[in-house]
Amino acid sequence: MFPKYDVIVVGAGHAGCEAAAAAANLGSKTLLVTMNMQTIAQMSCNPAMGGIAKGQIVREIDAMGGYSGIVTDLSTIQFRMLNRSKGPAMWSPRAQNDRMLFHLKWREMLENTPNLDFYQDMVNGLLVKDGRCYGIITGMGHQIEATSVVLTNGTFLNGIVHIGEKNFGGGRIAEKAATGITEQLVSLGFESDRLKTGTPPRVDGRSLDPGLHRDRACKRLADTRRHPQARAPQRAGANCDSVGSALRVPDRRHRAG
Ligand SMILES: Cc1cc2nc3c(=O)[nH]c(=O)nc-3n(C[C@H](O)[C@H](O)[C@H](O)COP(=O)(O)OP(=O)(O)OC[C@H]3O[C@@H](n4cnc5c(N)ncnc54)[C@H](O)[C@@H]3O)c2cc1C
Repeated sequence: MFPKYDVIVVGAGHAGCEAAAAAANLGSKTLLVTMNMQTIAQMSCNPAMGGIAKGQIVREIDAMGGYSGIVTDLSTIQFRMLNRSKGPAMWSPRAQNDRMLFHLKWREMLENTPNLDFYQDMVNGLLVKDGRCYGIITGMGHQIEATSVVLTNGTFLNGIVHIGEKNFGGGRIAEKAATGITEQLVSLGFESDRLKTGTPPRVDGRSLDPGLHRDRACKRLADTRRHPQARAPQRAGANCDSVGSALRVPDRRHRAG
């Protein structure tokens, strides 16, 4: 059913999308396998691209022909250059993005990339012989061969979600964890450990009384001059230059993350 690929990329998060685009654009016959095509390039948490110690990475990826900067520009709703009080070497471009538009633009760009196939399934094993990985095994039982396999599983490998004192398996909220690969990698001699991520609470804007919080809320205006994240400037998102607001939370007990 499946041909042999040059490159299989597992996981269509930001890393996987870039890896698949890079491989395909370099002429490799590439397969991008991901658990859910509806969550391609989903922004996990704060829908921002760039920021301190990250903005330059988006531009470096862009300089190498990656798509993150282009997609960011096409879905930006607010742009700020952070750290402006310091010298230019410290400036950090940060875009806030329309989460859904970001995913759609990424998917559109990938679907228009030659040499790139997609398959929706969970990869739960690697084909390994004589210390060399030559393909993947999926949850549906397909064995797909490739010269190279790139793993970009993000927070999904045996992921656990903690909410208060409850915890359960999951890659992100309402998404399954990926099982099988970690155990196999450990059996092959790799070490496995856990990293923690945090997420702020989502607040229903309709539940806030702006009058009540006026003393603690401050407007975060967008920069009047936009600095595109990609070299070839894209048309900014329709709502670009919107106003954001920050709310200071005085009591540590109400803080998250
Ligand atoms: C709640 C939460 C909050 C976060 N907050 C931030 C933040 O504020 N700032 C920040 O920089 N980072 C944050 N992160 C980290 C975030 O994961 C990374 O920034 C970024 O999304 C990582 O991109 P990625 O491409 O490596 O992986 P991900 O975005 O995690 O994507 C991995 C993809 O691979 C797929 N996948 C995984 N395993 C398999 C498999 N076996 N088979 C098929 N498909 C598979 C998944 O479905 C997913 O599409 C947060 C993560 C979470 C969960």
